Amino acid sequence: MVISPVDLTLLEDQHSSGAYLKRDLQIVRGEGALLYDADGQRYIDCVGGQGAANLGHCHPAVVAAIQRQMADLMLCPELFHNPVRAHYQAALCHAANMPRVFLCNSGAEANEAALKIARLVTGRRNYVSTMRGFHGRTMGALSVTWEKTYREPFEPLIGEVRHVPYNNIDRLAEVVDDSVAAVIIEVVQGEGGVHPAQPGYLAAVQRLCHERGALLIVDEVQTGFGRTGSLFAHQQDAIQPDMLCLAKSIAGGLPMGAVLLGERIGTLPPASHGSTFGGNPVACAAGLAILDVLQTTNLVERARTLGDEVLAHFRAHLPTAVREVRGRGLMIGLELRGKVAPVLKALQARGVLALPAGAMVLRLLPPLVIDETDLWHAVHIIEEVLNDAV
Ligand SMILES: *Cc1c(COP(=O)(O)O)cnc(C)c1O
Repeated sequence: MVISPVDLTLLEDQHSSGAYLKRDLQIVRGEGALLYDADGQRYIDCVGGQGAANLGHCHPAVVAAIQRQMADLMLCPELFHNPVRAHYQAALCHAANMPRVFLCNSGAEANEAALKIARLVTGRRNYVSTMRGFHGRTMGALSVTWEKTYREPFEPLIGEVRHVPYNNIDRLAEVVDDSVAAVIIEVVQGEGGVHPAQPGYLAAVQRLCHERGALLIVDEVQTGFGRTGSLFAHQQDAIQPDMLCLAKSIAGGLPMGAVLLGERIGTLPPASHGSTFGGNPVACAAGLAILDVLQTTNLVERARTLGDEVLAHFRAHLPTAVREVRGRGLMIGLELRGKVAPVLKALQARGVLALPAGAMVLRLLPPLVIDETDLWHAVHIIEEVLNDAV
């Protein structure tokens, strides 16, 4: 029996938790920066798996690496050594210029590990994070997240968190004292509305952390893997995090997360942290494939030039519905004068999928492999929809 797409949508809703507000669209196939619904209707994907699809959908190198590894070994808990993990850890540490890594399965889990490790290493309890910062939905990661609607229903969370305004070093200096284990911060705030760090800000944050004995946790879950025009966004800010948290695009679309550990962390005590699926060989094989593609093609540089062009274009032809254009590389936010929800709906009807970042910001995270024609077509449609919106 063949069930129609509409009935399958109903079936999915019937047994889903309800935690997600889903769009009226069923995706069945993806290739590069294009997605297709059950009727074969094509969409230009500027959601990019919420940042997990920097290499696009079903990148052939990633698919091949996964298929090869699946045939050999799908599971290998870190009770044992594994050659794929060995290669992957070396490649990732080398790429990030950090000596060690803890592998896990998601962004929240990476931040969660980093928060624990910060307490372990410093013997201090408190954390400082930023207003509009987003670090995940588990209890620890949620504690350092800003958005009250995510946080408040679950309080009490970790109490020892101070949130300070982003891009404001004086306010940070007021709260980082000898009780603070770590400052956790994004290089471009993603969920919080696409706010890039101003030049010099992160270097000042790092200096302050060093002076006061706090660790610097840089959350690059969304900005990592070429998104902003360098392999990792913080490389443009010339800083060296004590811990670097990664996930989303890390394994070409498979679930994986990582915490890179800097010199000030050293090695962790045995059994101080762990994860059953962490360091999974299939995810590691996919991770190796995406690193290889990013390091041997011009995709990262292309993200920077294309991003610059798109930002310049929007700024030069600012639709009246737009208050401000922000971004770095192919991480682009248009702050609107009104709500973003109807704009997303209108875009979808015109074959372009995009993201919100809060209620008023239209966020674009197209796969870095997007065809230039498709990208400019999407930009054009966005302009038309935004010009219609007022
Ligand atoms: C998405 C995101 C997270 C959470 O990642 P999950 O894999 O959804 O847990 C954490 N930090 C940032 C900056 C993110 O964008």
